[in-house]
Amino acid sequence: MKTQVAIIGAGPSGLLLGQLLLRLGIPNVILEAKSAAHVLGRIRAGVLEQGTADLLREAGAGERMDREGHVHEGITLAFDGRQQRIDLKRLSGGKSMLVYGQTEVTRDLMAQREAAGGMTIYEAQDVQPRGFLGDRPRIDFMREGEHFTLECVYIAGCDGFHGVCRQSVPAAALRCFERVYPFGWLGILSRTPPASPELIYANHERGFALCSMRSDMLSRYYVQCTLEDKVADWSDERFWEELKRRLPPAVATTLVTGPSIEKSIAPLRSFVAEPMKFGRLFLAGDAAHIVPPTGAKGLNLAASDVRTLYQVLKIRYGQGREDVLDRYSDTCLRRIWKAERFSWWMTSLLHRLDDDPFSRRIQLADLDYYTGSVAGRTTIAENYVGLPYEEIT
Ligand code: FAD
Repeated sequence: MKTQVAIIGAGPSGLLLGQLLLRLGIPNVILEAKSAAHVLGRIRAGVLEQGTADLLREAGAGERMDREGHVHEGITLAFDGRQQRIDLKRLSGGKSMLVYGQTEVTRDLMAQREAAGGMTIYEAQDVQPRGFLGDRPRIDFMREGEHFTLECVYIAGCDGFHGVCRQSVPAAALRCFERVYPFGWLGILSRTPPASPELIYANHERGFALCSMRSDMLSRYYVQCTLEDKVADWSDERFWEELKRRLPPAVATTLVTGPSIEKSIAPLRSFVAEPMKFGRLFLAGDAAHIVPPTGAKGLNLAASDVRTLYQVLKIRYGQGREDVLDRYSDTCLRRIWKAERFSWWMTSLLHRLDDDPFSRRIQLADLDYYTGSVAGRTTIAENYVGLPYEEIT
């Protein structure tokens, strides 16, 4: 088998890159370890930056998103008995967010790929990228007990944090930066109307809580939990009680509860691998970096890597220039580190960090300071809606 760009992973990064390249006429094949149904069964992100939504439109996958997604122009920070709205649109010069689930983004991209005749090989086993430090990269993999080799010109490692691509890079060529937080998020999805039309991020002495949503009748709620907590420890009743305790009373009293249709615990981590290019292998999305979900940046950062890789490959194939390939890593990392900083800061600001009353007073002072000035609110808004992209020419 032969192609130009072999993409490992059919998450949002791989599918979006594949679709953008197909529209340019650049042949590509996606290899995915799981089945399509498994990929679609993962409940993850749901808040899209305007730049991510624009890129999905450019990939031809924006029609349902524009019909069913909800534009959000603000978020609320709740702390110390107060609620402070951050007017994202006004403070960021007109930008807003779009609430549309990652599952739906993935479904739309899969449908577009199928319609365009793009090849995705699901349930590919023992996927091994090889030869990418030389000029003849290839991928070995197994499918239904048979061995295959996919020859290519470039490999896009879009295979998430636990994928094989980053692990295939010689250890000496890679530098990793990591912070693991001593708490996690317990999340539930319920067929209930959202607590509020906009997201509420709550800092409470019992721990962080978040009211989010996917649609008018689908809500996503989170509470900070310990790393020892198990989903089985949390009945729906216990979850709703704890959530209500952490929300402003006016929100808690009107909260509509119901049976959970999904419940999971996610650990929180910050992680960056540098660089993101090794010969002819490019890492993109969670394969190269992880953020705690507090700033809603994970999926959006994946999309911004894809945007940069797409630009670079467009110039490479359109103008025959190879010099741009070497700009991929540094261009991505400049934006990634700013998003890492914001996600770390939001996490530190909103979670119960320890039992020390000093830490709590500092958090409340920080929240009071940032929400009390236009400059502070603007800082939050411009980071939340997504910092500008760097163009590669
Ligand atoms: P992934 O979505 O991880 O996709 C990688 C794909 O590669 C997967 O389909 C995987 O099966 C495949 N793969 C892995 N290994 C191999 C292999 N060896 N061979 C072939 N295929 C392979 N972000 C936010 O912005 N907001 C949120 O609220 C949010 N919530 C999250 C909740 C959870 C529980 C998790 C885990 C993540 C959350 N994120 C959130 C992060 C966001 O979902 C990710 O940033 C996003 O999925 C990254 O997309 P990706 O395509 O780079 O990686």
